[in-house]
Amino acid sequence: MKIDIVSIFPAMVKAPLAEGVVGRAIGRGVIDVAVHDLRDFTTDRHRVVDDMPFGGGPGMVMKPEPFFAAVDYLGRERGTPDAIVLTSPDGERFAHRDAERLSGLQHVVWLCGRYEGVDERVRMHLATETLSIGDYVLSGGELPALVMLDAVARLLPGVVGDEASVARDSFVGGLLDYPQYTRPAVFAGYEVPAVLLSGHHAAIARWRRREALARTALRRPDLLDAVALDDDDRVLLREMQGSTRGSEE
Ligand code: SAH
Repeated sequence: MKIDIVSIFPAMVKAPLAEGVVGRAIGRGVIDVAVHDLRDFTTDRHRVVDDMPFGGGPGMVMKPEPFFAAVDYLGRERGTPDAIVLTSPDGERFAHRDAERLSGLQHVVWLCGRYEGVDERVRMHLATETLSIGDYVLSGGELPALVMLDAVARLLPGVVGDEASVARDSFVGGLLDYPQYTRPAVFAGYEVPAVLLSGHHAAIARWRRREALARTALRRPDLLDAVALDDDDRVLLREMQGSTRGSEE
């Protein structure tokens, strides 16, 4: 997969990409990530990327031309992208399903805003979609682009060492992850659930499924509505309701 990020702070984008599973995947050539300085696509001597807002008001707005020139260049040098994502707090909320969708593409570009945001014509006539990472305002699109890139990259084969670990992560199957424990079996008097030490694989699998269902029901009931529950799941959920509300059946 080819990924391009366009920003006025390329060093800020590059630093986190040097570490961890994503850094290793780039090193091994599993993903091809290129970071581009938006100022390289200006034509004036001062490499200006922002200007005052039409209509007045505070702050500066990012000019459209450098973004259009950058994407033009990427089309020529890196091939036509399948998606051009504008980062913006008023975009669609990025979620696991978007990570999955984008991970199925060959080539994705992220455009990072700064200041008061980006001239609307970039969204209307250049970006293919606008995505937000949550209901808060950051000072730039660099961290959002990195967040999305990371979520996308770890779904690609060969990025995370053990693919089974991605398959059971939170949201992948529609549920939150089950609780994890490692050694020691007793720490400061706190014990690991006995079933995990039992070596009984079927009992462990059932306990984990039950915990995943319970956490999701408790913390994110909105997710549960979208999960295809099987008969065993329904039994487990009934058991839980039985144990918290007293048996009704
Ligand atoms: N005035 C804008 C905020 C601009 S913040 C507004 O109120 O909507 C500057 C830049 O940071 C944006 O152009 C965008 O690229 C990025 N950004 C800030 N918060 C973000 C978020 N939650 N998700 C994605 N991008 C964000």
